[in-house]
Amino acid sequence: MRVNVINKTEFLNEYHFRSLCLLYFPQAKFPTNDPSPYSADFTLERLPDGTLYASAFLHSPQGESFGESYEKDIVFTVPADDESIAAAITGKAMLNAGKKLFGFVPPWGYLTGLRPVKRARYYLERGFGENRVTRLFTNDYDVSEEKTRLSIATARKETEMLSGITPEHCGVYISVPFCPTRCDYCSFVSYSNKKLFSLIPQYVERLCRDIERTGDIIRKTGFVPKAVYIGGGTPSFLSDGQLCDIFRAIEKNIPMSQVTEYSFEGGRPDTLTPPKLALIRAGGPDRISVNPQSTCQCVLDAIGRKHTVEQFFQSAEAAAKCGFATINTDLIAGLPRDTRETFAKTLEDVMALGFENITVHTLSIKNASEIKNDNGVFDPVGELARNCVSYAGETLGAHGYAPYYLYRQKRTVGNGENTGFSLAGHESVYNVMMMEESSTVFACGAGAITKLVSPDGEKICRIAFPKYPYEYLEREENVGEDAIRRFFEKQR
Ligand code: SF4
Repeated sequence: MRVNVINKTEFLNEYHFRSLCLLYFPQAKFPTNDPSPYSADFTLERLPDGTLYASAFLHSPQGESFGESYEKDIVFTVPADDESIAAAITGKAMLNAGKKLFGFVPPWGYLTGLRPVKRARYYLERGFGENRVTRLFTNDYDVSEEKTRLSIATARKETEMLSGITPEHCGVYISVPFCPTRCDYCSFVSYSNKKLFSLIPQYVERLCRDIERTGDIIRKTGFVPKAVYIGGGTPSFLSDGQLCDIFRAIEKNIPMSQVTEYSFEGGRPDTLTPPKLALIRAGGPDRISVNPQSTCQCVLDAIGRKHTVEQFFQSAEAAAKCGFATINTDLIAGLPRDTRETFAKTLEDVMALGFENITVHTLSIKNASEIKNDNGVFDPVGELARNCVSYAGETLGAHGYAPYYLYRQKRTVGNGENTGFSLAGHESVYNVMMMEESSTVFACGAGAITKLVSPDGEKICRIAFPKYPYEYLEREENVGEDAIRRFFEKQR
């Protein structure tokens, strides 16, 4: 998509304007010579009287132009600096142009960030009443009333959950980026190529060494783990012996006395046989994910997810018998071949299992995903996905599930969100610590990112392991111990 920006201010950069385009064109790429039929023109400048002025124009393939301009004439709910005003007037100009062209305003208004709930929580925790936060979201950011209610409810729950977390508490993440096969929509770095499976034994050995080093750092820095998360990929793809090695390394090295939640991302039902589930439970984890994404076989086939609906029900029933405190299941709205009816049936199926957590995602298509929309396999404007997500929120709410964490991704159909719903008392504290960037999380494994949060919560430092397993194995170095020590010394 061609984007032309005339920005005569010191505020905002090219990235911001491209992000605004993604509100209506989630699949857009931005080469300057792009031949795609839509294009956008933005202007942001300061008028001679000092007023900020913005305009946005979208040009259709038929040669029509739809545009809107804004000046600094918005009455803001909270005092706004010039940078925020620049973001607001460009955002509002874009929404008006998009509405004229496509007939709708995206549910999250012009908010392009990944953590809208963090804003709601920020203001609620500083004494703003719900009415004022509602005005802020609906008036200043143009967020829909439905998403505003969702943000406030989620923020309230997060605040309640984080009240039990102190700056000494931390999370621990263990990455196992291998999967039996690759799903077509997936954009994670996860090896699913048979040749690369030969790296797994070395990978597990290296991972166990990193768990040992991480345990050492945690003790030296005085942190107290509250939650441990083994994620992927598909960790249950590993052999019994490899899993036992990882469980033993965690038990031996990570201080577990205050860990209240130990999660294992089973994910793919085809890897979760009854003996494997029993082994996982015996190894320590008390929370597990069993993810169908859809219980419609034609949808699973359309997304290249190589398991059957029957395998999902078998593994779900087996997991329920293993004594996990919490079972999570993930769904995705907006998948190819899914309809409102098949989505509703999927939701009904997973609710009937009585699992404590249901996470509703919206399809997001990144560059690394196999499925592209060249032949219309999914709807990027995402009206159906938006309807399904709204329906899920209402239905889950009526059955006692409440939202407790939420995040957005770029390039999501219909600009939807991903929301974790939970029955009371089963919310995942790890998910909240991670998503809200409220606590330090130490990470081990390829692609894993240790996130250090200063005691006042104001500063965040990220230390990333090499992204790909082969790089991770080639470059055995310490797990960022020096950087971690320097970061916390600076905070004293
Ligand atoms: S199981 Fe999950 S991580 Fe693995 S390929 Fe499928 S979507 Fe990606």
